[in-house]
Amino acid sequence: MTRTIVVTGGGTGIGRAAAQLFAEQGETVIVTGRRPRPLHELAAESGVRALVCDHTDPRALTTLLSELPDRIDVLVNNAGGNTDFDSDGATDLAAYARDFRANLDANLVSAALTTKALDDRLAPGGAVVHIGSIAADQGAGSYGAAKAGLAAWNLDLACELGPRGITANVVSPGYIADTEFFRDRLPDTRRTDLVSATATGRAGAPADIATTVAFLASPGARHITGQVLHVNGGAYRTR
Ligand code: NDP
Repeated sequence: MTRTIVVTGGGTGIGRAAAQLFAEQGETVIVTGRRPRPLHELAAESGVRALVCDHTDPRALTTLLSELPDRIDVLVNNAGGNTDFDSDGATDLAAYARDFRANLDANLVSAALTTKALDDRLAPGGAVVHIGSIAADQGAGSYGAAKAGLAAWNLDLACELGPRGITANVVSPGYIADTEFFRDRLPDTRRTDLVSATATGRAGAPADIATTVAFLASPGARHITGQVLHVNGGAYRTR
């Protein structure tokens, strides 16, 4: 039976690679995001369905629900990013609070809201897969805190969904090149450092994360839940 897969933030980068992989496997795929253009380009290319939604906004999620089918087999909470990346640092408490909350909203609250909104539609045998980050373990201010919170919150989610035969896991990428996340934001020396830290000697690709997401969403992974699966090329070298 064809499964229905929802990939949030699926118009670009890792989400796009996951959506394309599921579509190639013959699944029915729905991608979401705030900007219509990348979504519609992907829809035209690979036949996925595109719906505009800001996953931090409960009202937008209510509208999204009205457009989604009654049965969802797999939810990939991929939407996110470091909203504080370009900040030079907050100059006052109000700005600090705004920046901190923006990262929590973008990376943690968005996943919790989306899962809550779709909860009734998640089918037995299904899976929820969140995209975390190596930043949860290495520290990266409010972004790392949000991704660490995502992994912690997922433990409860796994216990809630388990009796219904639904798994909940986090895929935690290391440095993934060629997505909008780092594009034009990272000096070449920093890129070299990030690659040097890996055991594999290379940056990850969106496809490396997509295949892991597909595995965790597959029947073969039905006894894996409440886990964080690190996909970072062994980014633990200190020299
Ligand atoms: P991208 O910027 O290409 O992907 C992020 C996607 O999320 C975009 O399509 C964006 O589209 C969407 N998005 C962001 N915020 C929202 C929102 N509020 N509502 C709906 N959609 C949203 O970068 P990546 O593919 O690299 O990032 C995907 C995930 O991987 C993120 O969660 C990121 O934190 C994580 N990650 C990335 C790493 C990397 O090295 N690239 C490393 C570790 C984790 P739009 O702006 O149109 O809404």
